[in-house]
Amino acid sequence: MSGYLKHETLAVQAGRMSEEHFGAVNTPVYRASTMLCRDLSTLEAGHAPYVYGRLGTPSSRSLQEAIMALEQGAATVVCPSGLNAIATAIMAVCGAGDHFLVVDSCYGPTRNFCDKALKRAGVETTYYDPLTGTDIERLIRPNTKAVYCESPGSLTFEMQDIPAIAAVAHAHGASVLLDNTWATPVLFHAFAHGVDISIQSITKYIGGHSDLVMGCATANAAHKDRLEEVHFLTGACAGADDCFLALRGLRTLSVRLRRHEKTALELSRWLNTRPEVERILHPALEDDPGHAIWRRDFNGSSGLFGVVLKPIPHAALAAFIDGLSHFGLGYSWGGFESLIVPAHIVRTAQPFAAEGPLVRIHAGLEDADDLIADLEVGFGRMNEAQ
Ligand SMILES: *Cc1c(COP(=O)(O)O)cnc(C)c1O
Repeated sequence: MSGYLKHETLAVQAGRMSEEHFGAVNTPVYRASTMLCRDLSTLEAGHAPYVYGRLGTPSSRSLQEAIMALEQGAATVVCPSGLNAIATAIMAVCGAGDHFLVVDSCYGPTRNFCDKALKRAGVETTYYDPLTGTDIERLIRPNTKAVYCESPGSLTFEMQDIPAIAAVAHAHGASVLLDNTWATPVLFHAFAHGVDISIQSITKYIGGHSDLVMGCATANAAHKDRLEEVHFLTGACAGADDCFLALRGLRTLSVRLRRHEKTALELSRWLNTRPEVERILHPALEDDPGHAIWRRDFNGSSGLFGVVLKPIPHAALAAFIDGLSHFGLGYSWGGFESLIVPAHIVRTAQPFAAEGPLVRIHAGLEDADDLIADLEVGFGRMNEAQ
């Protein structure tokens, strides 16, 4: 049924179980470890719907089902952080002796996990240029088990040709994993483009209010059992209060994203006219190198983009950032508030070319004119500090 509904409808309806909760629209917060069983025969037959908090409560199940419906996948597991969801998904497809291809523009902690934990577990990681498409074939070895994608890339926003990569990976028996946090299932339908496991940092747009840390991974039918098994074996789970907040955020995901998109585009277009700016990294801008792929594959853009500034002294960058009134200086993104942060890029496959500093902006839900006015005054401070 859910496959025929639009994401706006799914975001409102999916995962609700009012009839089990006296008609309450939202599934209540089930703070529970022990879930008592009615009698011994039910316990022995394993027929109880819930047996122990780590293995699921109505709070986590509502969230799981809502995300599974939005992603149109076969199974979703909810994890205590986005990074844990990434680790869970990778462990579902890679083991000792395997080779793993990871995009060079991946989220930094994903790289750390591969370089340290995965290496110790006997998996060899090779990083590939984010602009690689079908030519990923020359990096595939007989023991390559999976290809990891993130599009657009963290900090640098390169678009990946996921259908092309997936076709090659599948022809060689390798699975395709995607960090889909920037687009969410609303803006990019991972499974329709060849992805096998789609990962979200719920912390970002699904949570949407900067008040929780959580992640999830959703698998297609072929990867469902392995994903659920690793999640079960490692004891990854999320608290009931956080599940409740994540679901509350998810109900308004579609409308919030549309507003983030609009404001980010207004800021980007204005920034593009400024002499202080070298270039904007945003795939929805017509002159972005990834624009054609974005147009072909995505249903829209979100609120996060990069700004490469012309070379300036560090003190001028500080004068710009420190005096801003409407942009918080901080990590994470996807909440209702605007943020700005300098980006430090680690690359091993292909260096990222920029002479000036790169800053990342998250366009929040404030009025775009107020945000632009704040940036304009900031550029004045930047110029005075040079
Ligand atoms: C923040 C982020 C993560 C990690 O999420 P946490 O919930 O902070 O662990 C993963 N991928 C991307 C692209 C992110 O921005």
